[in-house]
Amino acid sequence: MKRKHSQNTGNQGTPFVKGMQTFASNTLDFLFPRSCVVCGDLLLKKEMEVCWSCWSELPFSLHGYGPDNPLAKSLFGRIALHGAYYFLLYERGASVSKVLKAIKYEGAKTMAFRLGEEIGRKLLKSNITGPFSHLIPIPMHPKKEKIRGYNPACILAQGISKSMGIPVVENFLVKGKETSSQTLRGRLDRWYQTEGNFECNFKGEKFTHPVLVDDVFTTGATIERCLEALYLVSFPKASVISLALTV
Ligand SMILES: [Zn+2]
Repeated sequence: MKRKHSQNTGNQGTPFVKGMQTFASNTLDFLFPRSCVVCGDLLLKKEMEVCWSCWSELPFSLHGYGPDNPLAKSLFGRIALHGAYYFLLYERGASVSKVLKAIKYEGAKTMAFRLGEEIGRKLLKSNITGPFSHLIPIPMHPKKEKIRGYNPACILAQGISKSMGIPVVENFLVKGKETSSQTLRGRLDRWYQTEGNFECNFKGEKFTHPVLVDDVFTTGATIERCLEALYLVSFPKASVISLALTV
């Protein structure tokens, strides 16, 4: 299957094109005022999707990338992981839930891209320039992706790619069919089955350090499945970056 690499999808162009984009943006702001996805107040011209006040109060991660990150620790004893990083703490009903709702269900692709860029900048500031070789978004169910028109994890990965210069491989992992052994698993393992099974599309590839990218980390069952798929094709190590970690 043909592999799809993507990188640096940000806006580029001549000063004239940029001028026209600014004019169009100002006109749109006038005709269709934008509001903050968290508080709903009208946004100032230089504010993006979240106003400065709400942005400053978001529960940003206090942990850096590494094996001691709480996200990595939650997988301890389940599957090997080189390191992990999350950007925001997610609590149901709180501000981050509105950010996630916007990027997952309301088409806020630009915001997802910018959040990805910010994650990349944070990692670079922490001197995590990387052992990372490739960014691999966690795949969505094809039906869901068709309905929504995009996979938020892919857009996040593209933003991280722009900041860090690491390529994205969008269809590296695919949802596989349930195996007979999975069908025979007991009730305790049923929750695994609901997360599905993943397969690597490119079994001959030798990426040195793939990084799985997702929008929100909850039980970790999906990530665990994806890591299993990577290790089955002999990747020596892998890491995880998630926009949000469930409290
Ligand atoms: Zn706000």
